[in-house]
Amino acid sequence: MKVSIVGIGKVGSALALTLVARGLVDELVLIGRHPPNPVDPSFAVGEAMDLLHATAFTRPVRVCAGGVSESSGSNVIAICVSGAESRLPRTTGADANAKILREIIPPLVAASPDAILLLATNPLDAMTTLTLQISKLPSGRVLGTGTLLDTMRLRVLLSEKCGIHPRDIRAYVLGEHGDSQFVAYSSASAGGARIDPDTALLHWFENQTRLAGHEIMRHKGYTNAGVAMAAAVIIEAIGTDSHEVIPVSTLVRGFAGVRDVCLSLPAVIGRAGVLRTLEIELVPAEAEAFRRCAQAVRTTLDNLGR
Ligand code: NAD
Repeated sequence: MKVSIVGIGKVGSALALTLVARGLVDELVLIGRHPPNPVDPSFAVGEAMDLLHATAFTRPVRVCAGGVSESSGSNVIAICVSGAESRLPRTTGADANAKILREIIPPLVAASPDAILLLATNPLDAMTTLTLQISKLPSGRVLGTGTLLDTMRLRVLLSEKCGIHPRDIRAYVLGEHGDSQFVAYSSASAGGARIDPDTALLHWFENQTRLAGHEIMRHKGYTNAGVAMAAAVIIEAIGTDSHEVIPVSTLVRGFAGVRDVCLSLPAVIGRAGVLRTLEIELVPAEAEAFRRCAQAVRTTLDNLGR
């Protein structure tokens, strides 16, 4: 399993450490902003050395810093770049991040024509849609971490309430990895028992989940641990061809009246990326929320460059 990470900032570094710590890769290439240069070492060079030493505690992994040519033949390329100040709201950096993606995606895909592209860069769903367009790859091979992180944030809250391990809670945050996201409570269950959607507490949980990223930013200035774990879990599902169901941002083709935009739906993940999405049953209010998510992402895409 060869993974390249592009953008060695807070998220890229945390993802690299997670992949090494969990022993999920055989080869890891860290692509920072500058090509590595022994005279003027970049942050990515130092990070690669540090991680290489960390592999001695886990299992051997070839770790290096590099550029596009070192990334060639990657199975997965994780895109964690940002051209914007990370304290700003998710949509603020859309133009800067779109510009970076237009520059980096074509050469990366040319060097790794069979790779799966996994986006963490915000605004996540707009950037995933844009990457799909730029890369011209089959839709299953371009995905974003989407609402997996939001789903886990919700499951932690539900777990505390039910006294049941988050793993046994089946409740999905769907739609946009952003403020228009919603919980598909109508299909939520814990240990097989339905979770009654009509309690004020559950709506409070939904709101807390939506605000969690903003709250972490307010205290620590950025978020990285949760998204790194989310990306690592997706990479593991690809590497092991696990067919795990994970909510990821993927091209929607006619679900709830939405098409041609990337949003999160529960998806079966395997060696080829998104193998299929599940047509989860939504009540009318949830379907309407899903359409509002699509509109929010379209507005971001329409405003690029304006
Ligand atoms: P950061 O500023 O710490 O790191 C971004 C890195 O990208 C920087 O090191 C920068 O040098 C690098 N970069 C910029 N252009 C590049 C290029 N052309 N080639 C290689 N590297 C390049 O930001 P961060 O906190 O790591 O966040 C990264 C992105 O992830 C942001 O868009 C952020 O909003 C997003 N994010 C997403 C989630 C999620 O759940 N999807 C969670 C947290 C952060």
